[in-house]
Amino acid sequence: MSKLSLDRILQSQGFGTRKYCRSLIEDGEVSIAGQVQDNYRTTVETDGLVLTVFDEEWVYREHVYIALNKPANFECSRKPSHHPGVLTLLPEQFTWREVQPVGRLDHDTTGMLLMSDDGPFIHAQSSPKRHVPKVYQATTQDPVTPALIAQLLAGVQLHDEPAPLAALVCEQRGEHQLEIVLEQGKYHQVKRMLAAAGNHCSALHRSAIGTLQLDTLGIAEGEWCYLTPEQLALLA
Ligand code: URA
Repeated sequence: MSKLSLDRILQSQGFGTRKYCRSLIEDGEVSIAGQVQDNYRTTVETDGLVLTVFDEEWVYREHVYIALNKPANFECSRKPSHHPGVLTLLPEQFTWREVQPVGRLDHDTTGMLLMSDDGPFIHAQSSPKRHVPKVYQATTQDPVTPALIAQLLAGVQLHDEPAPLAALVCEQRGEHQLEIVLEQGKYHQVKRMLAAAGNHCSALHRSAIGTLQLDTLGIAEGEWCYLTPEQLALLA
């Protein structure tokens, strides 16, 4: 249980600077349970709080944990250079809250991207010591062969890695389709492993992280959703 003043609450939820949040409150744009709140010093219990701001309901969240179904041609970087950033697919409040991707997908990779504003959570999820399996659907330029699968399972040497990297699982899903499960999250790992094994990755999609599958979230490409504690537990 914690009580905070209304201006702090609004600021923490990403509505802008403290000054701007105070002006929103004083202008009568904020209400709680149908009551306009025009005193920014009013303290309110944040647990279970639902605010109405500009006629839109906002559930108070200390932190946000979301999954985005990332389309191609969006960059995960906070300062994108060639394509729009993934934050442009989310409400503006999330940029103010400094929501950021948990790990990265290449600009042309589609699929599940976790995002949060909880620093320790992001750090823990992206730690190299954490071996959460990530499931990828890769389209290959040349047909998939048993030799390709065998190489990816045995391990391939990437030029800047001290030891060969192997897929945890590698299964053929079509003439040019592979499902690859990786424990590590090295830069361009799937693409570089396929190249090292003599093929080329022409499209890549992340379908699951841990046992949390994108398909179960009911979000179309470009859409996002909050993750429940039960769904977060599947990321372990
Ligand atoms: N491996 C890649 O090569 N690219 C990604 O975006 C993710 C994993």
